[in-house]
Amino acid sequence: MSKRIIGIDLGTTNSLVAVWENGKSRLIPNMFGEYLTPSVVSVGEDGTIYVGKAAKERLISYPDSTASVFKRHMGTNKEYFLGGKRYLPEELSALVLKKLKEDAERYLGEEVEEAVISVPAYFSDMARNATKRAGTLAGLKVERIINEPSAAALAGQEQRPEEDAVSLVFDFGGGTLDVSLVECFDNVIEILAVSGDNRLGGEDFDEKIAQYFIQKQNLDAGKLSVETYAVIKKSAENCKRALTENKKADMVVNCPDITAKMEISRKDVTQICLDLFERIGKPVFRVLMDAKVTAESIHNIILVGGSCKMPIVQQYLIHILNRKDLEIREPDHMIALGCGVCAGIKERNEDVKDMLLTDICPFSLGIGISDARFPRQTEQLMAVIIPRNSSLPISKEETYVNAHDYQKKICVRVFQGEAMYTRDNIFLGQMEVEIPPMPAGQVICLVRFTYDINGVLQINMHIPLTGEKKQLVVVNSELGMTEEEVREKLKEYEKLKLSPAKDEENQYVLMWGERLYMQCDGEFREEILRRMQYFRYMMEKDPYQIPKVRKYLTVFFAYVEGAMEHYVSVDSSLLQDADWYDEEDEETDQSFKNWNEEDDE
Ligand code: ADP
Ligand code: MG
Repeated sequence: MSKRIIGIDLGTTNSLVAVWENGKSRLIPNMFGEYLTPSVVSVGEDGTIYVGKAAKERLISYPDSTASVFKRHMGTNKEYFLGGKRYLPEELSALVLKKLKEDAERYLGEEVEEAVISVPAYFSDMARNATKRAGTLAGLKVERIINEPSAAALAGQEQRPEEDAVSLVFDFGGGTLDVSLVECFDNVIEILAVSGDNRLGGEDFDEKIAQYFIQKQNLDAGKLSVETYAVIKKSAENCKRALTENKKADMVVNCPDITAKMEISRKDVTQICLDLFERIGKPVFRVLMDAKVTAESIHNIILVGGSCKMPIVQQYLIHILNRKDLEIREPDHMIALGCGVCAGIKERNEDVKDMLLTDICPFSLGIGISDARFPRQTEQLMAVIIPRNSSLPISKEETYVNAHDYQKKICVRVFQGEAMYTRDNIFLGQMEVEIPPMPAGQVICLVRFTYDINGVLQINMHIPLTGEKKQLVVVNSELGMTEEEVREKLKEYEKLKLSPAKDEENQYVLMWGERLYMQCDGEFREEILRRMQYFRYMMEKDPYQIPKVRKYLTVFFAYVEGAMEHYVSVDSSLLQDADWYDEEDEETDQSFKNWNEEDDE
């Protein structure tokens, strides 16, 4: 069998890995049997690196040595200092990729050397290159980067491979909304238009519910402490999630200065969030307009992202798109499943329909020119060669002439961006050729831009008069790491001490306990500590008992977690009126027995 290729959804909050298997795309579970691995990295005191679930627990207990949401800064030089070492976003991403690669190798029972990784459609060239470097650092060859909406559409298409269809991909996450129209036609997948609102997400709903609560309780918003507001917002989010399951929910806030409960319904939330819905509608209408497609001619509506789980969001989409209903599959899985399909295509599997992925270029690419009509103007103008929203691959040539009398050379400076002046756009590279000194307008220079779907930009210039030709391939070395650095780092990464997989579940439980310890107080703390000490003791003393003790501990922690969610802050007063402790213990004993029996089967 040929070498396996995996598909990876490298997400802001969570990452997933998929593979093409037995004629379909399949998600690969991690050590916990879960598909979602938190995109969080943490460095322990002894230098051990934790990635995923265990690292996420450390966000609260060890915020200084833990990093999350670094995807937002991909391709920049933003620095994260963890355990006294400096990390770039691409390095942190590399650690997440390395983890997913390990999970995939364990699942497949073979080595994996190549991956297809998805990125947002609006990712700049730099962010795309940084994503590839992250792959290299993780020991993965990444030839193909796929846009997230294309991946989601591929996953949607997998259901009915025989049909040509226009899909609306609606990706609504925690802080961003991305809407894309994707066409699958005759083996070609093409993005027709993209739009979005990069400041609209699930968090805005939390904010609204929190404000509503403050208003209903007659609280003075200006006087609330930062901590109190954070508690209110967290409980607003819990309440929002509860409303996904039920039509009504209680919002409970219990912290030193406030004890209050408020009932809220889906209808209330719809009322107080009307302006958010209006903002949700805008990019949807924009893509339809840009692509000149009517709402009726959309075949699939593909929901992606956690905020799509809200029934009121689904209802609103049904309303504005004139549907009877929506066909909903797990919004968290769509992109990864599509990456799995793409991996299958790349592996050249016979059981997957060979699709040619075309993408669009989410930004304009061009060169800096002087406007001959205004010779005294020194600012260079941006002359766009490949306009934003062009389908890829694309190759386009433009003709320019010398701007000044008897100038000796022509310099082609390449930029990316939408601003009028090049100074406000991103500089990608430059090249120069000498020309014979002649009056302005007499030396012709042809400039060709070729941009492929793997994000490689090639620029060719040609002076017909002299026959001179030059080529530039854009590799961004200013931001992120240079190739040299990647090679150096790679050696370093091979030696990195990643938390061993077999130990992962234990580490996770320990970190979970540490976080709970921080969030509780009084007798709860003592109890957590006592049980954790026992667990640590067993880890050394009797490895065979570990799974048993761990399960026991997990049940206890889940109980504490539940109590915390309900009361928001857990204090010892809870212990007094509740005889939960003994009763619960009996219960856990019982459930523990059940588990055991299951295990024996
Ligand atoms: P990202 O922004 O990283 O792409 P996600 O797609 O995971 O994130 O979406 C995160 C958002 O989804 C958060 O605002 C979260 O509150 C919301 N969310 C997750 N699950 C639910 C649910 N069951 N009901 C309502 N909102 C949810
Ligand atoms: Mg997302």
